[in-house]
Amino acid sequence: MRILSGIRPTGKVHIGHYVGVFENWVRLQNEGHDTFYFVADWHALTTHYEDTSELRQNTFELVKTMMAVGLEKSTLFVQSAIKQHAELFLLFAMVTPLSWLERVPTYKEMRQQVTNRDLSNAGFLMYPVLQAADILIYKADGVPVGEDQVYHIELTREIARRFNYIFKKEVFPEPKELLSKVPKLLGTDGRKMSKSYGNTIPLITTEQELSKMIMPMVTDTNRKRRSDPGNPEVCPVWDYHKAFGTADNPEEKQWVYEGCTQAKIGCIDCKRLLLKNMLGKLQPIWDRYNSISDDEVKAKMEEGNEKARQVAQRTMNEVREAVQIMF
Ligand code: SF4
Repeated sequence: MRILSGIRPTGKVHIGHYVGVFENWVRLQNEGHDTFYFVADWHALTTHYEDTSELRQNTFELVKTMMAVGLEKSTLFVQSAIKQHAELFLLFAMVTPLSWLERVPTYKEMRQQVTNRDLSNAGFLMYPVLQAADILIYKADGVPVGEDQVYHIELTREIARRFNYIFKKEVFPEPKELLSKVPKLLGTDGRKMSKSYGNTIPLITTEQELSKMIMPMVTDTNRKRRSDPGNPEVCPVWDYHKAFGTADNPEEKQWVYEGCTQAKIGCIDCKRLLLKNMLGKLQPIWDRYNSISDDEVKAKMEEGNEKARQVAQRTMNEVREAVQIMF
């Protein structure tokens, strides 16, 4: 299967991206699929167009992080380096009814909820069309997404169908969403993990810094003293345990469950175990990250851009022929 997915370079990669996105991407790559992963820098502009001062650096670091987490066998590329996405976006914009975009749930939600940024730009309304172009230009079979993106993939299929119908040629296959169950990690203060709350844990950090963030983390709020029994199911720390392997280790799982519910362990003991398990997964990533040179990142990016460009160009040749604009 050809798999396609992207990530926006709007800030530092945090632990939620690793658990929710990168682990899944690595799994798909290691299952032998033809995986294309990109940094969606044009998508970042749909909401963050006013300040682009960190865009270049964030893009570079994101590719380096993707290499460090183990995506070296995948085609890694940068969206804006493949200008064909913009051409296909323009053609899709011609055939997409405005009403399809106005009913996108994330569009309506974000317009209501985001008050600290101007989202009245046409680019923000149109970004599902750009997303459709990103996916369809590679004729992707599967797109790993979170639940909030399922509607976008449905819209991508509708755009593919409409294009094929209008221009009487089966240029685009219909991609499927690939949903996977991932534990949702809350921020260190127990609220939704978000840069604006300052409660995120960066993926690339050090043992000392990680410990400083994990140890004061909010736990089951009913467990005020060590002698109070707790409930892992309502504790954000247990979600981290599930994401970092404790729940897959029967002895450790039992130790946390019994220890917590019968007040045999304190939350500090529990977090020490979490830290050990997090380090087991993260230390090799940090070591790889620190050993990758800038030249290696540039070379990987150029190689990925070139491969993506060739695939995109082949699709655009078919598209131009179907639309009859071969100039
Ligand atoms: Fe949470 Fe562990 Fe404390 Fe129980 S012992 S409340 S699971 S941190």
